[in-house]
Amino acid sequence: MTAVLEAAGLTKHFPVRRRVREVFRKGRAVHAVDDVDLKLHRGRVTAMVGESGSGKSTVARLLAQLYPRTAGTLVLHGKPATVRGGRRFRAYTGRVQMIFQDPFASLNPAHTVRYHLTRALRLHGRVPAEAAELLEQVQLTPPERFLDKFPHELSGGQRQRVAIARAVAARPEVLLADEPVSMLDVSIRLGVLNLLRKLRDRLNLAILYITHDIASARYFADEMLVMYAGRVIEGGDSETVTQRASHPYTRLLISSAPGLAHEPASPVEGEPPSLIAPPSGCRFHPRCPHAMAVCRTDLPPRFDIGDTPGHWAACWLYGAAP
Ligand code: SF4
Repeated sequence: MTAVLEAAGLTKHFPVRRRVREVFRKGRAVHAVDDVDLKLHRGRVTAMVGESGSGKSTVARLLAQLYPRTAGTLVLHGKPATVRGGRRFRAYTGRVQMIFQDPFASLNPAHTVRYHLTRALRLHGRVPAEAAELLEQVQLTPPERFLDKFPHELSGGQRQRVAIARAVAARPEVLLADEPVSMLDVSIRLGVLNLLRKLRDRLNLAILYITHDIASARYFADEMLVMYAGRVIEGGDSETVTQRASHPYTRLLISSAPGLAHEPASPVEGEPPSLIAPPSGCRFHPRCPHAMAVCRTDLPPRFDIGDTPGHWAACWLYGAAP
């Protein structure tokens, strides 16, 4: 299957202020994302799962080209996709759209639903009359009930549906959804995820689902990537990663997810590391109950796990040390 959007070696280091540099003499940057590879396919949902601060939202912004990369390549339909503003950026956003966590912040409170949708339609060469059709696509019906409402007159779930309709106005191929349900009431999260799933099928979208909730990722996503401290540490199809989690950090995530824990994990203590001076070797080693000498010095590569194609973990438990 050919990927529509592909990133290789995606890296983002944010420079730190001088005062912080004085504390961490060796480190001069926040290593937010290091060496992330991923492929997004049309008609598939890929979940990127991790704690807050693990770098997953930065990955989404790098893919949307809202931040410049420190290193790495981005390829759309097999061609280099780097853009720096202007018309090429607009063309790129026509194909790669983003949905943000907070639907209230992403909609202008001074404008109606009609304004938000017709503006997006015009920007991407479509006619304003299609606004009603967009609302039907996100199940806000009848559309006339919603077109002239302001964001504060809508519920959180309705606002997020408007944000999704605005993203879909561009007729994108890729949707980058950054924690799209985490600010919504639990009772309406499932409805929004089901809507995204329907849009995936109807519009043949490639969706990147960023979340800290591994249970929802299992429900919604076809593939899963797990991030820890700026690096992807396990990947595979969602069912396999959650049923046969291999990396000790993935097991920790599952052990703390209601409804997913099937066996008690080894106790893990401590906090995620500083990304200004991340640990050498495996970044999880200060917290890992299985850490060995090699883990402190050498970064583990991806090792294939068992006989499930595509399941891998970056952990020395699964491969020979150098
Ligand atoms: Fe633990 Fe070592 Fe595996 Fe890292 S590489 S998760 S420290 S066993």
